[in-house]
Amino acid sequence: MTDKIADAVARRRTFAIISHPDAGKTTLTEKLLLFGGAIQLAGEVKAKKNRVQTRSDWMNIERERGISVVTSVMTFEYGDHVFNLLDTPGHEDFADDTYRTLTAVDSAIMVIDAAKGIEPRTLKLFEVCRLRDIPIVTFVNKLDRESRDPFEILDEIEQKLALDTAPITWPIGRGKSFVGTYNLANDTMRRSDDDVEPTAVNGPESDAVAGLLPENEREMLVEEMLLGKEACRPFDMQAFREGHLTPVYFGSALRNFGVRDLIEALGNFGPAPRAQEADSRRVEATEEKMTSFVFKIQANMDPNHRDRIAFVRVCSGKLQRGMKAKLVRTGKPISLSAPQFFFAKSRITADEAFAGDVVGIPNHGTLRIGDTLTEGEELLFRGVPNFAPEILRRVRLGDAMKAKKLKEALQQMAEEGVVQLFTPEDGSPAIVGVVGALQLDVLKERLKVEYSLPVDFEMARFSVCRWISSEEPGEVDRFITAHRGDIARDLDDDPVFLAPHEFGLNYEADRWKAVRFATVKDYQ
Ligand code: GDP
Repeated sequence: MTDKIADAVARRRTFAIISHPDAGKTTLTEKLLLFGGAIQLAGEVKAKKNRVQTRSDWMNIERERGISVVTSVMTFEYGDHVFNLLDTPGHEDFADDTYRTLTAVDSAIMVIDAAKGIEPRTLKLFEVCRLRDIPIVTFVNKLDRESRDPFEILDEIEQKLALDTAPITWPIGRGKSFVGTYNLANDTMRRSDDDVEPTAVNGPESDAVAGLLPENEREMLVEEMLLGKEACRPFDMQAFREGHLTPVYFGSALRNFGVRDLIEALGNFGPAPRAQEADSRRVEATEEKMTSFVFKIQANMDPNHRDRIAFVRVCSGKLQRGMKAKLVRTGKPISLSAPQFFFAKSRITADEAFAGDVVGIPNHGTLRIGDTLTEGEELLFRGVPNFAPEILRRVRLGDAMKAKKLKEALQQMAEEGVVQLFTPEDGSPAIVGVVGALQLDVLKERLKVEYSLPVDFEMARFSVCRWISSEEPGEVDRFITAHRGDIARDLDDDPVFLAPHEFGLNYEADRWKAVRFATVKDYQ
């Protein structure tokens, strides 16, 4: 390992923000980028929602519905650290995209609305993080508004998520009298995020703190802070890193409270890029040779260039511009001539990237989700998941002459992770599967705009899809032979069983005990 690589790895923090819509993810992102110097003015991220941006010009759907359906990465520096923030789509119809993105982060910020507590989507995303033991830093947002008692919020996190909490800061006041954040661990405070450095104070009762609070609430709020200091669990680094405990920060992204506390926490406590499990061995982030995997493909980021960008997370070594990597799935070399870094609005050519960094690699369909790149080693990263679709449809094409073109287009869409594609064994037309209905709208729009293929979707006679496998040799073949009309192949030629409903699936699962019916499949 060279010092340069070790040093670069130690500085990196790669994370995502998980939250329920409206909790303040966009506002927080904006502030992080602003304090990190990545954007000039707050408001640029928000603008994405409201007005047309180059990046998403092509996507009328996004424009019409005012939702961001794409995942992107933003890099910024703060203090000694380099942060890679992987953005995830807010809409739950694109949940599979979010899950794949979470495979590429080392930690997450969970944003909670101080008035609403844990909401359904936060819970769901938290569960995905827990599956991977991703350490979570909690930001309780909107303290400038009418909000719940901090103890109640901490209790709700502990109860609903079965996650220990350690409040590091405490709000000084709430609602209209919210005037700053108090660090319980080291007795410092910030009046707002304008304070680059926190100020040392003499406890919550001191004039510097208590004196800021309205007289009628002072006693109650000071007591609360003292109790917070006294009674709350102390921060435990190991428990945090193992995903059992979350440090909690209070603030207001909109009014500039608590964001610096939060970003410093991520820098100080957040893990540097982790070691990554591959099929043959564990790859340490500080190894010299480059390894990386593709977790996201995005097409048409720039309408002038019909390129596809594969987002790769570097897992070890140094990814250098111009290097030749091996695409392990095919065994072929791929030249990384123009890897790119992304900022809020712009992208620049990346000369070198280290573990934890995410770079975009322009390509014309060579790279697929789940692909591993190495400097020659035969090694595959596992764990970019494929989820059994919730909705299955047949694609109906008006013009039968274009069937071949449709097949190619669907194959490409499937490689990008827009939809899943299943080819029935009995030769009937292809079936597409999605987890949310909006994905079908995206598919339809893209087939029309990019491939001039107007299509419609028909209900398939199936509604359930499971990957089949078995420990017993020959069992899968026997099952396939017995169910020929209900078997299809996915993009990797792996067999899936299509059932009309859950009942039908359970019936078969009862009869074929040696066959496994999986709802999740790792790529590769
Ligand atoms: P997202 O859907 O999670 O990305 O949430 P947004 O960042 O778009 O915020 C949703 C709404 O809450 C917007 O109207 C924001 O201005 C508002 N908001 C975000 N943070 C705060 C905050 O700290 N205080 C208050 N009062 N409003 C906030």
